[in-house]
Amino acid sequence: MNDKLHAYIEEIIPDRSQLLHKMEQYAKEHNVPIMELAGIEAMLQLLRIQKPKMILEVGTAIGYSALRMAFAVPESKIVSIERDAERYQLAEKYMEEAGKTEQIIIIKGDALEVEEDVEKHGPYDAIFIDAAKGQYQRFFKIYSRFLSDGGVIITDNVLFKGLVCEPDIENKRIRNMVRKIDVFNKWLMSHPEYHTVILPVGDGVAISKKR
Ligand code: SAH
Ligand code: MG
Repeated sequence: MNDKLHAYIEEIIPDRSQLLHKMEQYAKEHNVPIMELAGIEAMLQLLRIQKPKMILEVGTAIGYSALRMAFAVPESKIVSIERDAERYQLAEKYMEEAGKTEQIIIIKGDALEVEEDVEKHGPYDAIFIDAAKGQYQRFFKIYSRFLSDGGVIITDNVLFKGLVCEPDIENKRIRNMVRKIDVFNKWLMSHPEYHTVILPVGDGVAISKKR
């Protein structure tokens, strides 16, 4: 989408609470990659329609998307995983400030290691994958086992700033990352157990529905 249209969409998205603004500001100042505004709106709308009772999030950061989901689907319970100690603590603080500690449980640890803890709270009607991009396939394989029938898995950043379709990337680290995302996208799109659509909104949002 061109920048003008993108700016237009962001401009007409309704204003958010003071706390959410504060979190957006913090994320901006400290380079915390919270979900893009238009992308998160698309996800929240899907969740409002689906009304999941249990949501799993991989990658809490400071709790911004968890809080947005909690407000969008007030009847849901959210389990979210974060491995970074500082972000985990900040997320806990914000959840308290929002009065959402009952609705949102944050598990501190590496998503590749806290599987058992996560399983205890499951199964999940919606799973949101938004952590280390190089590990998406692993997160998907681990946690899709706890997805309820008819559940959805939402994956953020699958277009990686549009770089997924750039053939000549000089930076080796970024080139590797892009390759991994590309492999994940193709694997996901042809997965026999899921119907997947990639929405070119925000940083690219994949929505997979269990067949
Ligand atoms: N969902 C958040 C943003 C998450 S940013 C929002 O939109 O508000 C990605 C987060 O995932 C980072 O804070 C990072 O520390 C965390 N992360 C990355 N790999 C992880 C892993 N293997 N286990 C747990 N957390 C991880
Ligand atoms: Mg993201």
